[in-house]
Amino acid sequence: MTANPHYPHLFEPLKVGPLTLPNRILMGSMHTGLESAPGGHAKLAAFYAERAAGGTALLVTGAFAPNMEGNLSPARETMIDEDDRDAHRVIPQAVHDAGGRILLQLLHAGRYSKHPNAVAPSALRAPINKVTPRALETAEVERTVEDFVRGAVLAREAGYDGVEIMGSEGYLISQFLCLRTNQRSDAWGGPLAQRLRFATEIVRRVRERCGRDFVIQYRLSVLDLVEGGLSGDEIITVARAVEAAGADILNSGIGWHEARIPTIAHAVPRGAFAWATRRVKQAVGIPLIASNRINAPEIAEDIIARGDADMVSLARPMLADAEFANKAKAGDRAGINICFACNQACLDQIFVRGIANCLVNPRAGRETELVYAPVKKKKRIAVVGGGPAGLSCAAVAAERGHEVTLYDRASELGGQFNLAKVIPGKQEFGESVAYYAERLRRAGVKTMLGTTPGEVELAGHDEVVLATGIDPRRPDIAGIDHPKVAGYMDILSGRVRPGPRVAILGAGGIGFDTALYLVEGQGKAQSDPVAFAEHWGIVKDAASVGGLAAEAPKAAKPEHQITLLKRSTTPFGATLGLTTGWTLRIELARAGVQMLGGVTYNRIDDAGVHVTVDGAERVIEADTVIVCAGQEPNRALVGALEARGKRPHLIGGAKLAAELDAKRAMLEGAQLAAAL
Ligand code: FAD
Ligand code: NAP
Ligand code: SF4
Repeated sequence: MTANPHYPHLFEPLKVGPLTLPNRILMGSMHTGLESAPGGHAKLAAFYAERAAGGTALLVTGAFAPNMEGNLSPARETMIDEDDRDAHRVIPQAVHDAGGRILLQLLHAGRYSKHPNAVAPSALRAPINKVTPRALETAEVERTVEDFVRGAVLAREAGYDGVEIMGSEGYLISQFLCLRTNQRSDAWGGPLAQRLRFATEIVRRVRERCGRDFVIQYRLSVLDLVEGGLSGDEIITVARAVEAAGADILNSGIGWHEARIPTIAHAVPRGAFAWATRRVKQAVGIPLIASNRINAPEIAEDIIARGDADMVSLARPMLADAEFANKAKAGDRAGINICFACNQACLDQIFVRGIANCLVNPRAGRETELVYAPVKKKKRIAVVGGGPAGLSCAAVAAERGHEVTLYDRASELGGQFNLAKVIPGKQEFGESVAYYAERLRRAGVKTMLGTTPGEVELAGHDEVVLATGIDPRRPDIAGIDHPKVAGYMDILSGRVRPGPRVAILGAGGIGFDTALYLVEGQGKAQSDPVAFAEHWGIVKDAASVGGLAAEAPKAAKPEHQITLLKRSTTPFGATLGLTTGWTLRIELARAGVQMLGGVTYNRIDDAGVHVTVDGAERVIEADTVIVCAGQEPNRALVGALEARGKRPHLIGGAKLAAELDAKRAMLEGAQLAAAL
């Protein structure tokens, strides 16, 4: 067989237990929220089948618990009886019909369970959970092992090719492994050799009961990132024991959920943890999978070519592009919709018990309802504005068969994404713009940059879509025209260089981002794995407990002294992403950014910003005052179009600026285009 000319290592077949996989791409386990939704199994079947048809060699389902105690939430997401088994059958069937292979993930949440019957090795509450678990009795530990075995047997009967046993991220198996959470005095606690028995007994008995023609993938925490976690040497001991117990392949997990170090958010450089996988790979004989922030084929290829791992796991990137593998195989890098790790439409949704979708691919998780059918009647469509809303709308409308012209007054496509991409960690927003630009080109969209169309020109189209975005709000504060006042666009575009003392008015997403931009400069910690590790105190020394430095890393002295101001009294950062906002708050606190809420703005003058807070007047001394006070919709064209009898469609910021984000903008664009 000749090697793939584009990514030769990624597309080399791999033997995993009884299977020979056609490539090295795994779709990692991801909770989608469909697991317990009405009709969820059929929707999951469509979701996974699309990814299998997209060339992914092996897929892993979201988490299913082997018993009710192990359920993550009160909703039933289990593999515990014949009913579960029968409901699941459609999933492996659909994947097999699409030419793929799929494993069921068995996960016992232990002390991360959000229901009152949570259990754990010891009755120790997790810092990220309100529920204190009950310690399992010795006989219950034995029973729990058997529950995993039953789950695997049922998965096999349902038609799955194997199971992934979830042994990482701080769930029950991790909890047994570490002294942090296992303080038992019976044979399941004590020295590591006893603490790891829970993991090895599960693997050994699943192998015994399910036979050799059933894949056992074990997800190993290759880096715990918590105090009292395992050292690198201990992780190797666990890996070898799991291999000896009968696992076919190891997947890797990075960091417990309670770790205070980002592991998958956009603050993490691509492929940042491959070194931790490499350490284990050198110690075992079975294949090993690298994971976390592997979102492009060249990153995946390098990891395998360097020998850091045998396979790569992509989870969110499979939401962003179901055809990732086929496109990579064909060398169509420009055609891949890149996941930029925002977590906004996927993980953040799961935390509020929603359905996982994708910001850059609104169809993900909506496969059965957002259908882009070919048009019956071709229309001439004008889309004004090439930000996320306009890009998404123009691409889908043209792909469906309409004749689309996209106008933007700017000289480049992307709208506000061109500002977002200068924020440390958001560099990849630029990739999304490039991807959509390429999609427009392929779909034959006529793109008119540097063009502000008039109503006469627009009225000649069958449909007009206004995706003209927003205008930054200029609050009515005395002195707002003072020369030291700048808008966030002035700062982020580099038009204005701020002085050493900065006051930021407004602490929404853009206020926080602007502060981060000022304290982090080039964002090296978000793009370079070595700088990232230093920044967060991660050490590679295999003897270090949990992979953490003994001392907290020191923050570099920031160039600016920043005060973030807002009028409301809600906690700072409350509007940021659930799974990413905490990182931003840590970053700004480390850089000494002051935060002052509940203020009334009185005036801006040579001294700075005069505010009243708690009834007292204060001056926030500032050389530069940056306004990040939200936005107003830009609907300048509406009146003139309506005067000509045209009723334009409004999407994104042009429709509603409040609570606007790119997730809503792209979704509205796609939904409108699907309906036109
Ligand atoms: P816009 O992106 O504003 O695009 C409007 C387009 O219309 C522009 O290109 C403009 O040039 C064009 N236009 C306007 N009027 C005309 C006209 N008359 N003729 C022709 N063209 C016209 N969102 C998130 O979801 N996650 C984030 O992490 C995030 N980070 C951000 C960070 C920063 C620093 C900024 C500034 C924004 C961020 N956003 C983020 C917000 C996100 O970028 C916006 O919600 C999104 O861009 C809105 O999309 P839109 O298409 O409605 O409008
Ligand atoms: P925003 O989140 O709505 O925040 C606006 C800020 O301005 C608030 O702090 C508000 O706080 C203040 N404000 C509003 N009206 C004001 C007025 N008249 N005078 C003074 N202050 C005023 O908007 P944004 O920061 O501009 O962000 C725009 C959108 O982009 C957001 O909705 C967000 O979803 C998206 N975004 C997301 C991210 C992300 O990381 N997910 C990052 C950036 C942007 P007070 O009313 O308390 O003063
Ligand atoms: Fe990736 Fe964001 Fe899409 Fe989630 S929502 S898959 S993080 S791009």
